Amino acid sequence: MLIAAILRAKGSEVVGVAPDTTVASLLTELAIHDIGAAVVTEGGAVVGIVSERDVVRGLRSRGPGLLTEPVAAIMTGEVFTCTTEDTVEDVGEVMTLRRFRHVPVLADGRLVGIVSIGDVVKSRMTVLENDRAALEAYIQGERT
Ligand code: AMP
Repeated sequence: MLIAAILRAKGSEVVGVAPDTTVASLLTELAIHDIGAAVVTEGGAVVGIVSERDVVRGLRSRGPGLLTEPVAAIMTGEVFTCTTEDTVEDVGEVMTLRRFRHVPVLADGRLVGIVSIGDVVKSRMTVLENDRAALEAYIQGERT
């Protein structure tokens, strides 16, 4: 299955923040949208990704003063992205190996969506369930 299929189902909304957004404002965005990470963009380009895990680590190392610092201070600058033509299996494998749960999706260099590990698991479960149902129908057909 392709990443495009996930985006067709969930839409292309991506919560983005500017690099100078404070960590406190980032937390507000994450809470309002009920998400775990935001893509950091500047002039339409993806310049980073920042997740709740970065905030937890930052609070531990820098203390509560972190809340007034810009997200640029804690974001990951080297972002792994995928395209709509990548397979869900391949993207899921990278997420598992590299231990992150969010991958922004680009088309012609433009941000067109984001997939989470939850989206990947849901998609893989659907495929497995369809395969199981098809096999069951096949076996029952053999018996009749
Ligand atoms: P997450 O599992 O998404 O909460 O992220 C765990 C860590 O990986 C955090 O330090 C994130 O900034 C980083 N991270 C998340 N997604 C990506 C990505 N697509 N590419 C690179 N780093 C990422």
